[in-house]
Amino acid sequence: MKYFDSKYFHYKDSELYCENVPVKKIVDIYGTPAYIYSKNFFKDRFLEFDDAFKKVKHKIFFASKSNFNLNVIKIFSDLGAGIDVNSSGELYRALKAGVNPKNILLTGVGKTKDEIILGLENNVLLIKAESLQEVILINKLASKLGKKADVALRVNPDVDAKTHPYISTGLAENKFGIDSSSALDIFIECSKLPNINMCGIDMHIGSQITTVEPFVEAVIKMSELTKKIISAGINIKHFDIGGGMGVIYNDEKPFTPKELADVLVPIFMGINCDIFFEPGRYLTANGGILATEVLYTKQNKKKNFVVVDAAMTDMLRPSIYKAYHHIQPIQLKNQQDIKADIVGPVCESGDFLAKDREVENVEAGDFLAVMSAGAYGMVMSSNYNARRRAPEIIVDGSDFYITRSRENFEHLLYDEKIISQLHK
Ligand SMILES: *Cc1c(COP(=O)(O)O)cnc(C)c1O
Repeated sequence: MKYFDSKYFHYKDSELYCENVPVKKIVDIYGTPAYIYSKNFFKDRFLEFDDAFKKVKHKIFFASKSNFNLNVIKIFSDLGAGIDVNSSGELYRALKAGVNPKNILLTGVGKTKDEIILGLENNVLLIKAESLQEVILINKLASKLGKKADVALRVNPDVDAKTHPYISTGLAENKFGIDSSSALDIFIECSKLPNINMCGIDMHIGSQITTVEPFVEAVIKMSELTKKIISAGINIKHFDIGGGMGVIYNDEKPFTPKELADVLVPIFMGINCDIFFEPGRYLTANGGILATEVLYTKQNKKKNFVVVDAAMTDMLRPSIYKAYHHIQPIQLKNQQDIKADIVGPVCESGDFLAKDREVENVEAGDFLAVMSAGAYGMVMSSNYNARRRAPEIIVDGSDFYITRSRENFEHLLYDEKIISQLHK
């Protein structure tokens, strides 16, 4: 069986701990499935990234779509991060977490009118537009509100991030941004709009990128373009390279922030802009686990199955990306490994957490941890099969706090009711 072991999630006397707290102690109180996060992982990870780029004027915007728990947003914000929001809902969450709108970037390939208005009314730092039509709409809405909107344009640098096709975003065939060949003309056109202040250029080439080359290639292209835009008289102040920095789920060997800085800082030195980053997964993935209980085990002629109480509704990544997460016991029993499919209770064959996985021979009543679940875990959860969403607990040293309880049955109904006229 392969283990994930770090300073933040580690074994002591065969017990899995999150920081100084045995995970079993938390699940005994809050049940399973449950998301458990390490505050000090988030903190150390942010500080490491921030430190790596200290030679250039920069700001890190935490991509809250990876984990939009209010306290997680606040942990990063209190450390000095800005927040990248991808919808009005995420903007609402960031504001509720107490984030100053001047530290918020509003992103999104298909922002609605209402979302743009909310961004303008709250005076977010930048609206990152993805098409000429969108900038024209922002101009119109800003003019109605009597404002001048600070806008960045997302350019598609057409580089291959060599990642999963669903999370690759910087190829010409992807839906994101504007084409780099027409970018200069579009910037010039946008800069003529009276209620628009074109002040940023932005890219985001994909997610879970483990080598520096795609970043180098894209940043070189974008810095050349930026110089041309500035020469055309447009005052670009912010150069945003997006997120996508990869992490270890299994045996990946991603670059460190320092290694990324070593190759990018010299390029950044050639442009006179603040450098923005938007990491999500890098800051959160390895800082969380999903704890689950084994309900049943069974064998058929071909396979062993371990049926657990967490499902694709709690953790969708294995189902949609065939993503790998280590799955390991919360209490090691030093038994022989078996090879098994680890599956959830939802009525779908796609409801699995792992296939043909070597795992310690567990039995009903044992607890397992799905590792590296801090990014794109809880945020992708759903109520399919009318399942109630899991609670989220944050550990800080020897203390732990429930930040969001398990949903109750009333949450499942919201304001849904029987309409008597429909049943006459
Ligand atoms: C998803 C996304 C991010 C964060 O991506 P990670 O791979 O989690 O770092 C950053 N910026 C934009 C525009 C995104 O869509």
